[in-house]
Amino acid sequence: MQVTRLGDDKLERILFELEDYQISHGSLLKIPRALTDLESAVAVAHPIGVSVVPTRFPRLHFEHAQDIQPFFNELYMSVSEDYDWLESIIRPLGEVDEHVGKLWSIWERVREKGEVQPLRCGIFRSDYMLHYNQKSTEGQHGIYTDPSDQVDRSVLDSELKQVEFNTYSCAGGTHANIVANMHRYLIHKGVHETASLPANSSLMSIVEALAVAHQAYGPPISQTCQAAILMTVQPNNVNICDERPIEYALLERKPPIMLFRVCFGGAVLQKCRLGPNRELLFQLTPETVPIEISVVYQRAGYDSHEYDQKGIDARLLLEISRAIKCPTILSHMAGFKKVQQELTRPGVLERFLSSEKAVGTLRHTFMPQFPMDPPEDGDGDGIMIEKITRDRKEATNYVLKPSLEGGGHNIYGADIPDFLDTVPREARSKYILMEKIHPIPMHGVLVSPESTFQGPVVSELGVLGTCLWRRKGGSGERPQILESSGAGWTFKTKSKHVEEMSVVKGYGCFDCPSLF
Ligand code: ADP
Ligand code: MG
Repeated sequence: MQVTRLGDDKLERILFELEDYQISHGSLLKIPRALTDLESAVAVAHPIGVSVVPTRFPRLHFEHAQDIQPFFNELYMSVSEDYDWLESIIRPLGEVDEHVGKLWSIWERVREKGEVQPLRCGIFRSDYMLHYNQKSTEGQHGIYTDPSDQVDRSVLDSELKQVEFNTYSCAGGTHANIVANMHRYLIHKGVHETASLPANSSLMSIVEALAVAHQAYGPPISQTCQAAILMTVQPNNVNICDERPIEYALLERKPPIMLFRVCFGGAVLQKCRLGPNRELLFQLTPETVPIEISVVYQRAGYDSHEYDQKGIDARLLLEISRAIKCPTILSHMAGFKKVQQELTRPGVLERFLSSEKAVGTLRHTFMPQFPMDPPEDGDGDGIMIEKITRDRKEATNYVLKPSLEGGGHNIYGADIPDFLDTVPREARSKYILMEKIHPIPMHGVLVSPESTFQGPVVSELGVLGTCLWRRKGGSGERPQILESSGAGWTFKTKSKHVEEMSVVKGYGCFDCPSLF
């Protein structure tokens, strides 16, 4: 499908179809009652930002990203079990980053107590953009509205580069599924021209991963109990349309699997306790029979404000329990930007991966990344970083990132020097510096509650991966991989002028690649 500028009539026709599809299929953001001043007993929702027309993306890179997901699963399973290596990176980080420090001390308490559950579940997502390896692509490729052979060739010549690897609370799978189905429907209806849209299994893959972990837990230890999955969520959650379908699909399995939601923090402490064998017992109300939790699926507990004393105690309770964690606190911390940067150092991937092919393939997706530690004498990189971060012009090609999740925490390009002036020198090492990825903009049409947009856009491909593994022996011993596979994808597109990406926070739209 060659996307060109849509006229008003055509755009209106698509929007009419699209909004009905979104409303009918839960492609929505909820506005919880507590967040509106409407005195209404019913919640309000509005369609989430989506692409009006699928954005073009090269098949070659799309398929490669899926193919390498099992290597990334393996890498992050191994990293998660190497607590000596993680300690060497995260403990010093915790000294300058209070949030990291809290998580690390929770882990230390877990280690003291000893873990009773050797099985772990992972639902990961590796995010990529395409990088065109030429300093100034803008001037040459201002012809994005006319997807000529030249632009296509340059897009194909681009390299798949990893933005970040998410190990915790990976969202977007359900939205991505719905938007892909929506565009497929619009093609069937003749509203869109024919296009090659890839299949997406993300929702069902997540459900399958949770079901497999639930099964692996085995029968409840407390014989009077039923087993169920527990999903931690944030209060006043706007993104229920991404989460709830997982619960509904689990119930439709044969036999059905129950999933309960609990707000991270105080509610966990109120409703959960440990049984004599550290089984996690969940009680919906004081009157109901307790339920033994097989899997704790974390969709909250990534923001620093969630870790007040109750948040800390809740996380500790979940971590020391017998339930299988999706993921464990070590896998959570393995997803820090600081870890991503350390993995780019020469020789480090070799520590975690068994095949040379895997090492070479993954390394090729890495952008140059640097620690922000104060330079010592003779530290060439450190001196270079000092220079970059002091000069607005030099800094334009970089992103400064703390080890936080969820969007809105990074500092981009020319803003870096002024921002760093506000950070005490000794606290700078909580950030890492990453070279910017430069995708060639494509033409795109996007709609969100705020506006419609037609013009140059850039897309971000997320590849989901699911796995189940067993810790073996001590730190650094490679885990036993029980399940590991690719699990579908997410695809998000934004105006090329926007730096951030978080559809829920209003940056970017869910999209479906039109492969070429
Ligand atoms: P978060 O954990 O907040 O999602 P990310 O590392 O994913 O942090 O960064 C947020 C967004 O910023 C990304 O989705 C991407 O759009 C943009 N971004 C991050 N790193 C880069 C980079 N190196 N080059 C270009 N854009 C980037
Ligand atoms: Mg991200």
